[in-house]
Amino acid sequence: MIRGALVSVLTLVFTILAIAGAYSDHVRYSLKPEQIADGVYVFWGQQEPLTWENGGNIANTGFIVGNNSVLVLDTGPTQLYAEEMIAAIRTVTNLPIRHAIVTHHHPDHAFGIQSFKKNNTNVYMHPDSRSLLAKEGPILLGFLETLIGTNWITGTKIDRPTQLIRTERSIDVGGRIIKILPFANGHTPGDLVVYDQETRTLFAGDLVFHGRAATVPHANISIWLDHLDVLIELGWDTLVPGHGPIVTDQIPFEELRSYLYFLEQTATESVARGDTLGETLQTEIPAPFNQLATVKAEFQRSITSLFRKLEAEDFEASLPVY
Ligand SMILES: [Zn+2]
Repeated sequence: MIRGALVSVLTLVFTILAIAGAYSDHVRYSLKPEQIADGVYVFWGQQEPLTWENGGNIANTGFIVGNNSVLVLDTGPTQLYAEEMIAAIRTVTNLPIRHAIVTHHHPDHAFGIQSFKKNNTNVYMHPDSRSLLAKEGPILLGFLETLIGTNWITGTKIDRPTQLIRTERSIDVGGRIIKILPFANGHTPGDLVVYDQETRTLFAGDLVFHGRAATVPHANISIWLDHLDVLIELGWDTLVPGHGPIVTDQIPFEELRSYLYFLEQTATESVARGDTLGETLQTEIPAPFNQLATVKAEFQRSITSLFRKLEAEDFEASLPVY
């Protein structure tokens, strides 16, 4: 018993030393899990854009401990993050980390996949997210490196999931059933959410942003709004958004809904008036949206992508039909 404990401690020490040695400039996320319900833990991301200081640690990740295994929620932005996650989970339990659900393909959620695969974890994604990760992953990795710097990203490679989930599925982690539900074509073509029946906790991924400006580069806003109605009805007590603090009532849904309407309306009206993108980007962000974290940068990004999509549709519609 004592020998077993000693081996575990030594393993942990060597893992930490190995991680520290691999990253020469000693950048560290210093991840600490917070228990939010029985056996349910969250690593809270910062409400910031991607920066050299935060190393891409901007999204919430987490894990659920069953009687015979652990299920992980999202894999973080880099190999280093995922390795720190695994080490932090080991401070809570020695049960195998058998499952990792990647809610969608964006860098802050999907770029730690390789570390979990090395750990013999089954990694699950929606098939459309898997395709987008393969197609856009290398470019997104380049952007990420520019935004957070090389030190954080050392060793990070785009990897693919081991299993695909297109329809609702349950995973048994030992006396505890976790439901995985697809919500396609809203925030991205292939989002997954994770529901722990036992504690009525919902990990909503980036279908829910709380206190931070939502991102829409792969979004269909009207379908996303429909998804929000379904999410509300799922019967949760506690919701962990992809970004922002814990949610226990519907107020953050109203905040998100009205921000998404505002984005869509601003882009649609500008294109209809024939405004240029430059003119549209000058739009003043009204209260209360101007209070959202990262709103200045995200508003520019979101309007640019919505505007270009609408302009392309407008152009197609104006072509003569032969
Ligand atoms: Zn995100």
